[in-house]
Amino acid sequence: MSHIVIVGAGECGARAAFALREKGFGGEITLIGTEPHLPYERPPLSKDGLAGTEPPRLVADAGRYEEAGIAVLTNVSVESIDRRHKAVRLGDDRAIRYDRLLLATGARPRALPGAPENSDRIRVLRTHADALAIRGALRPGRKLAVIGGGFIGLELAATARKLGAEVVLIEGLPRVLSRGVPEEIAAVVADRHRQEGVEIVCGARIAALEADDDGPRVVFADGASRPFDLIVVGIGAVPNTELAAAAGLLIENGIAVDETLRTSDPDIYAAGDCCSFPLSHYRGRRVRLEAWRNAQDHGTLVAANLMGAAEPIASVPWFWSDQYELTLQIAGLADGATTTARRDMGDGAFILFHLDGEGRLIAASGIGPGNAVARDIRLAEMLIAAGCRPDPAALSSPKTKLKTLLAA
Ligand SMILES: Cc1cc2nc3c(=O)[nH]c(=O)nc-3n(C[C@H](O)[C@H](O)[C@H](O)COP(=O)(O)OP(=O)(O)OC[C@H]3O[C@@H](n4cnc5c(N)ncnc54)[C@H](O)[C@@H]3O)c2cc1C
Repeated sequence: MSHIVIVGAGECGARAAFALREKGFGGEITLIGTEPHLPYERPPLSKDGLAGTEPPRLVADAGRYEEAGIAVLTNVSVESIDRRHKAVRLGDDRAIRYDRLLLATGARPRALPGAPENSDRIRVLRTHADALAIRGALRPGRKLAVIGGGFIGLELAATARKLGAEVVLIEGLPRVLSRGVPEEIAAVVADRHRQEGVEIVCGARIAALEADDDGPRVVFADGASRPFDLIVVGIGAVPNTELAAAAGLLIENGIAVDETLRTSDPDIYAAGDCCSFPLSHYRGRRVRLEAWRNAQDHGTLVAANLMGAAEPIASVPWFWSDQYELTLQIAGLADGATTTARRDMGDGAFILFHLDGEGRLIAASGIGPGNAVARDIRLAEMLIAAGCRPDPAALSSPKTKLKTLLAA
């Protein structure tokens, strides 16, 4: 096998390219990305990266790609895949042949129906260019509306407050973080934002977003309307599957892959935010994750499998979010839990352990200042991976060292 082509120069594509070399792949590697930059980290874009003025935080600098013999083509899209001739066609009409292909095309922000596209004052946050445009509009006294109370919207709200902007966060559901985050934790997050002066409006029905010479407005279903200086829509992401779908690959809430990240074409793999995959720890349930460590783990695993191994996905989902001094971490998937055990850890930090009907630990969600919950979440992740059935009372007691449960 001599040429591996990677479509999508993001976290996952870059990680896969380096992992191929680390695992001894000696053939050609070409990494192709639409954006003008080398692969960079997205998490800072809603956090300190938005507040600062730095260029994007690169996954690796140009010298490292050169040293590793990875050809990176930036600013160019792959427009189609010719599976019969095993080649991809680029936007500039070049064709590049592959022996094995990795699709790491990521996801893009979900559009709000009825919102004007290409407005300077109504934006989304996914790329460094988005962050630059938003940052330029955030100053003391400026009014920002964040549509959507998910992680990105909430992180943006926190950063915007640090920059002195007035923030109204508008959520359609009855509470923020309703996807995958327990209510007790979401309540801590919402209270912290209110303390900082963020106005949170839940259960809102938005009829339209409008932008004219007077600036953008949120128009509600009851006819009321509110003017802002900037509106940022953060209502989730959709996977970039069009390329795979046009090539006839199976799509199922993302590019469908098996437990080795292989698509319905044996020479094409998909990994990161763009794919849905079966999770062995959850009885093969198919999921799609939008999480930084998942993109990294997939990148490492898919490299081995592109080289002929057939290693299955073994990692437990893990996600973190930083807002003000608080860090929230979630390991595993909590839906399906029948029992919850709460462990208080001082300074307001706590972890909720979620167990299923058979007493198996399936998830742990924690929040606290700084790194307060990090070590125990890491141990919880190991307990989940090992399929442990810990005693809920032991989990709740701060006296129990989770390590001892693991040993048991
Ligand atoms: C603002 C923000 C904050 C985040 N914060 C956190 C966090 O705190 N914690 C956490 O766990 N996760 C966080 N994430 C999620 C994390 O960044 C993503 O899960 C991760 O970036 C996914 O990596 P990826 O490589 O799969 O996809 P992406 O990073 O989306 O990269 C895919 C790349 O492929 C390119 N591409 C797509 N189609 C083509 C094509 N046809 N041809 C060429 N190139 C193409 C895209 O332009 C993109 O550059 C955050 C994401 C954002 C946007």
